[in-house]
Amino acid sequence: MKKIAILGSTGSIGTQTLEVVRANGDIQVTALAAGSNISLLEKQIREFKPKLVCVWDENKAKELKLCTADLFVEICSGMEGLIKVALEPESELLVTAIVGMIGLRPTIAAIEAGKDIALANKETLVTAGHLIMPLAKEKKIKILPVDSEHSAIFQCLQGRNGSDACVPCNSSSEIEKILLTASGGPFRGLAKEQMREIKPEDALKHPSWSMGRKITIDSATMVNKGLEVMEAKWLFGVEPSDITVVVQPKSIIHSMVQFRDGAVMAQLGTPDMKLPIQYALYYPERRSLKGERLDFWKLGGLIFEKPDMENFDGLRLAYQAIHKGGSMPTVYNAANELAVHDFLEGRLSFLGITERIEAAMEAHHVIENPSVEEILETERWAVGRA
Ligand code: NAD
Ligand code: MG
Repeated sequence: MKKIAILGSTGSIGTQTLEVVRANGDIQVTALAAGSNISLLEKQIREFKPKLVCVWDENKAKELKLCTADLFVEICSGMEGLIKVALEPESELLVTAIVGMIGLRPTIAAIEAGKDIALANKETLVTAGHLIMPLAKEKKIKILPVDSEHSAIFQCLQGRNGSDACVPCNSSSEIEKILLTASGGPFRGLAKEQMREIKPEDALKHPSWSMGRKITIDSATMVNKGLEVMEAKWLFGVEPSDITVVVQPKSIIHSMVQFRDGAVMAQLGTPDMKLPIQYALYYPERRSLKGERLDFWKLGGLIFEKPDMENFDGLRLAYQAIHKGGSMPTVYNAANELAVHDFLEGRLSFLGITERIEAAMEAHHVIENPSVEEILETERWAVGRA
């Protein structure tokens, strides 16, 4: 039986990972971690019987301990607990389904311990891709993308030289271009002026995907696509200039790779995160998966557009952050994390999110090749500033 641990088991990706585990019946979950939803955690503990569970909130961890006193499960809390879950000795693979750069230290710890990573938590690669990818190579572990676009690219690269050993694959010289698809979010086609009054409830309605709150807002601002360009650069070892964002509003094409002979390979499917999750859990095996299939007759046609960089600063600023490099992507990411939080709390306007990112980036002096400590220090600086 394959043994896995999950960071962020109560969220959108975490619960869908457990659905995949339940449907297949041959994966053992050895450890779980989540923020504060202990009623769902208790249900997950009773069903999946992990040995170790971390709740970020210390008081909630104490409460969970009382509710599960009849079970053989160790409950821990805080960053120490997250790292303990990442290092759970029996697990071979860590699913990083936690949201935000809080996932950085546990992910690095798991790689150092030789565990494969099913990576949903893109914020870790955005801020520390320059440390994580070489470490993954040194430790000979796999980083298996869960993000649908990156899973699509990974699937298109199968059969290429080196693609089954470890990501980044050695096939980058065969890649001419990565065509990263984007839905454009709920506000595609609007001018900036029309976005002034957008409220959280409007921005939380994604046209094609059902996801956690933070990534849904990131999709509405196009910051998500910016983070994904950075994620793709690290995962597939390509230059940012070789990544083209293609808006395809129905989210049917999950991404494409254009090879040096002009051939374009694409992965298509209905928008269902269980496919990339299952592909990462069982890679290189492709298991059967129930669910809706594409109906091309119903679909009729697909439209393609260039991303609107004039009205959506999220993507424009991402390219700037990549270009500056070093600690700048961390500033882009950390300023965004806090701004999204403030927007959801009603303390910041929708356009204020990217304005905050831009202001933080303008004030920042880049640290080249930042260490983990410098990345975390940069995060504190960006948050303190806001
Ligand atoms: P979510 O908000 O639904 O879930 C986040 C999970 O992280 C929850 O279980 C929460 O309890 C946990 N968490 C948050 N802070 C924590 C802390 N301090 N300690 C322990 N646990 C903590 O988010 P999501 O949509 O599932 O996204 C998770 C990650 O996957 C993000 O990085 C996101 O960008 C990425 N992702 C998500 C989707 C999607 O479809 N939801 C698609 C692609 C990538
Ligand atoms: Mg994505």
